Amino acid sequence: MQLRPIISEDDIQHRVSELASRIRSDYAGRDLIVIAVMKGSMFFMVDLIRKLDRPVCVDLISVTSYRGTASNGRPEIQMPVTIDLRGRHVLVVDDVLDTGLTLGHILWHLRERGVASARVCVLLTKKVLRAADIHADYSGFELDGEFVVGYGLDLDGAYRDLPYIAAVEPDEG
Ligand code: 5GP
Ligand code: MG
Repeated sequence: MQLRPIISEDDIQHRVSELASRIRSDYAGRDLIVIAVMKGSMFFMVDLIRKLDRPVCVDLISVTSYRGTASNGRPEIQMPVTIDLRGRHVLVVDDVLDTGLTLGHILWHLRERGVASARVCVLLTKKVLRAADIHADYSGFELDGEFVVGYGLDLDGAYRDLPYIAAVEPDEG
């Protein structure tokens, strides 16, 4: 297995700044709750909210569906949001929009809890056929179907600390 860098640290930081300024202007004059989907979006969420440069309330949600590089297709919410979401504007921040099952389930959960609005911000959108009809309101980069690691994204717990994003490829030969 080898790592092929595909998005540099500079490109990530530049793009996160662009997303932050769009979000800042879209939510001007409104309260905003950012809910980060653990653990892959940790680095992205922290950089994003620092660049937002406005007051924001932050919470975390944890959903499991992936083991290694394959999904079992059944997201389960493990750490429900603790703050009262009724009537609030929520921005869900996730690392990757792939099949859409994870975000679809989270959006359903948030609507059940009476949010006034829910939008999605992802670092990466995969150009694949989605199992759930979900689109990202804010998306950093588009990818083909490749499995990637770095900047919070892991492969069985490893590589989250890389400051760039790399595709995981089998060894040649
Ligand atoms: P979905 O439910 O959209 O299929 O899956 C989204 C979740 O799967 C992401 O939040 C992420 O945790 C995980 N995932 C999808 N693609 C990748 C990938 O290429 N690399 C890593 N590390 N996780 C991924
Ligand atoms: Mg995730």
